[in-house]
Amino acid sequence: MNPSVENILQKEYIDKEDIQFLLSLENADSERLFHHAHEVKTAQVGNKVFFRGLIEYSNICTKNCYYCGIRMDNGRYQRYTLSDDEVMEAARYAYEHNFASIVIQSGEQSSKSFTSAIGNLLRKIHAETGGKLHITLSLGEQTEETYKRWYEAGAHRYLLRIEVSNPSLYLKLHPGDNRHTHKARLEALSLLRKTGYQVGTGVMIGLPFQTTADLADDLCFFRDLDIDMVGMGPYIEHEDTPLWEYRNLLPSVAGRVDLSIKMVAILRIIMPDINIAATTAMQTLDPKGREKAIFAGANVIMPNLTPVQYRDNYLLYQNKPNVKDQPDETRKSLEKNIRAAGDEIGYGEWGDSRHFGKRITNDEF
Ligand code: SAH
Ligand code: SF4
Repeated sequence: MNPSVENILQKEYIDKEDIQFLLSLENADSERLFHHAHEVKTAQVGNKVFFRGLIEYSNICTKNCYYCGIRMDNGRYQRYTLSDDEVMEAARYAYEHNFASIVIQSGEQSSKSFTSAIGNLLRKIHAETGGKLHITLSLGEQTEETYKRWYEAGAHRYLLRIEVSNPSLYLKLHPGDNRHTHKARLEALSLLRKTGYQVGTGVMIGLPFQTTADLADDLCFFRDLDIDMVGMGPYIEHEDTPLWEYRNLLPSVAGRVDLSIKMVAILRIIMPDINIAATTAMQTLDPKGREKAIFAGANVIMPNLTPVQYRDNYLLYQNKPNVKDQPDETRKSLEKNIRAAGDEIGYGEWGDSRHFGKRITNDEF
């Protein structure tokens, strides 16, 4: 018997084969999937969307991922690092506008001066906001010692995308040296969990060489890892990167958006109480992409708080939107669109992953 959407949505355990089927749905069937995910979200985490103010701290990177615009070997961008004052101003904006959380993201660096600068900033932000502003880090692979130092200095969430869960696909997307290994990425995720962070990971969707089976495996990987948060979005080609050569292998723009929204919807159904981000990459390929993701199950958005004069130099991919928008404009248009999608903004709430709360309680007993 052929599977039907209804049958699969009623199942207690949705396996890899079911996920592949759901990823291939079209028209009314995919609408049914999105509505079901919306119901699951409402019942499990409510209709609140939490803001995480994004601060793109530095575009200096010591890595050379084949897909990324700010990879070390790309000479096009002027390299920058924000001053402490610039970071503090952005953090203050988030705090004063009741965002309750920020994300500090950067190209990967591991020098002593970098790790200490981050530690000092964490302490400063913590002191100035009386610990009320929660801080997420997205600073790549670091040593266990560094993860611990930053945790002790006040960061409690960490985002590190696995990028793709299939190790042989990972090899096609990164230089085959010892600085870019799938194994190290996996170990980093386990160290982050051990340190006590709420751990987030994620993947890119619609990459060259990636199959629907790979995407189904990615979702199973998040579930097996018992992850707390996920940020995933479409891959977007960048002309200064080695992967540009394979752009003819990509699914269409509409296809990548559609796949990304389906990934969000299926993830919400199989991991109902985690935090899922509606990513900027979705909005890049479709002006309504983030709202569609919110409807289909996402509950976190990261408005960009990086000072506007630096944004042209933090282009992980091309055509990034709102590159010139001041934080006020972004915030107001997000408020409007989120309300239009039927949700409200969780101002002043940390919006911690409920999954993490339960996991910690279970680990203790
Ligand atoms: N250097 C850190 C954090 C910054 S990069 C790290 O790599 O973890 C943040 C994310 O941007 C990466 O994890 C990757 O998934 C995403 N990214 C990079 N290039 C991209 C592209 N061309 N299209 C879509 N996402 C991209
Ligand atoms: Fe550097 Fe992250 Fe881009 Fe890789 S994805 S090149 S680590 S900024």
